[in-house]
Amino acid sequence: MTTLAGLPTTPLPPFVTYQDQQLMVEGASLAALAREHGTPLFVYSRAAMLQALAAYQRGLAGRRHLICYAMKANSSLAILQTLVAAGCGLDIVSGGELERALAVGVDPTKVIFSGVGKTRAEMRQALSVGIGCFNVESRAELDVLDEVARGMGLRAPVSIRVNPNVDAQTHPYISTGLKGNKFGIAHEDVLSTYQHAAACEGLRVVGIDCHIGSQITQTGPYLDAMDRVLDLVEQIEAAGVPIEHIDFGGGLGIDYQGDNPPEADVLWQALLQRLDVRGFGDRQICIEPGRSLVGNAGVCLTEVLYLKPGEQKNFLIVDAAMNDLPRPAMYQAFHRIVPVAPRASEDAPTWDVVGPVCESGDWIGRDRALAVQSGDLLAVLSAGAYCMSMASNYNTRGRAAEVLVDGAHAHLIRARESLTDQTRLERLL
Ligand SMILES: *Cc1c(COP(=O)(O)O)cnc(C)c1O
Repeated sequence: MTTLAGLPTTPLPPFVTYQDQQLMVEGASLAALAREHGTPLFVYSRAAMLQALAAYQRGLAGRRHLICYAMKANSSLAILQTLVAAGCGLDIVSGGELERALAVGVDPTKVIFSGVGKTRAEMRQALSVGIGCFNVESRAELDVLDEVARGMGLRAPVSIRVNPNVDAQTHPYISTGLKGNKFGIAHEDVLSTYQHAAACEGLRVVGIDCHIGSQITQTGPYLDAMDRVLDLVEQIEAAGVPIEHIDFGGGLGIDYQGDNPPEADVLWQALLQRLDVRGFGDRQICIEPGRSLVGNAGVCLTEVLYLKPGEQKNFLIVDAAMNDLPRPAMYQAFHRIVPVAPRASEDAPTWDVVGPVCESGDWIGRDRALAVQSGDLLAVLSAGAYCMSMASNYNTRGRAAEVLVDGAHAHLIRARESLTDQTRLERLL
């Protein structure tokens, strides 16, 4: 919906505002940033990330807790640096992510290693720097980790990822806690797996974990998962294996458009109450939020290249594409798209906003009412998570530049990728 003056009527994400009909991120003009750095360009608000983190910190205040930012959501070094400086640990899923984590000086004991396919080399790398916990996803992985750790004369700290078989009520591709997902160990096999782990010389059981999906907008699935996990903790401890920490994963959703997820502190009020009622309030709580820390802290700026009105559809061809913003193509995800400098116009035609990539799946938004001309700038909102970190070079497109705004200061945190960068590893015959 746009007003006659072209300004959106629904609220914008925090720290994204119009001032004098010009879109800003904190104190930085997006039009000026696009002039300086070109498009497509990702622009992030530092304050928005810290505000999102503060909601978790408030929610867990007074409890022994560890907030591990799930860095696959956006692993740019300056973003990791910002969140680590604010007290976060990191949730990693590869040896590459571990290197990024170490590069920003995270305390390795605040690193959790998730993922179903850790290699021996990655296990050795993580053991040698002394990470806090391996979240193990299968019996086979547990045995390999035991062997690798014994070979190094170490005991690997482990948690077993439980598949609690609850429906996170989100998109099937981002739902991970149901039977039939590749993630976690089935509820009925968890106890025997812990008994096995406790008997392995190369392993030290420290916790239990679950992660039921992403873009979750209701409290119910979290409460269900918590109950299922606590049932297991009771059984495991009754069998003589103490559980020091309980890790409830990530997955809290953000408002892309009319989504109404609970605030992190409100969610945790409800979850902590349940934890206390069930007698586990003394345990260390770990969480692994990704999207909810950075998703609404970023926008992607793109320039309108061509207007292509048609009989059935009008297409707005922009210079950002599925290689920059893969979520619509991958999950049919919705991103709001707003003009950087709205035009006053009585009628805004409806457009499919598409990129230059040679795929019909290359769309960014469908049926969007926008009053625009070629050369105008658009901002794709809620682009802080799972955009840049999933970006590719498809069609030999260099990945976009990234800017982190802090008040009136805009820091270039990643330069635009050049053709030389892209072909650096290639050789002619
Ligand atoms: C992806 C992932 C997360 C983060 O999920 P969000 O939806 O971004 O919060 C946390 N834990 C694990 C194990 C994950 O795979």
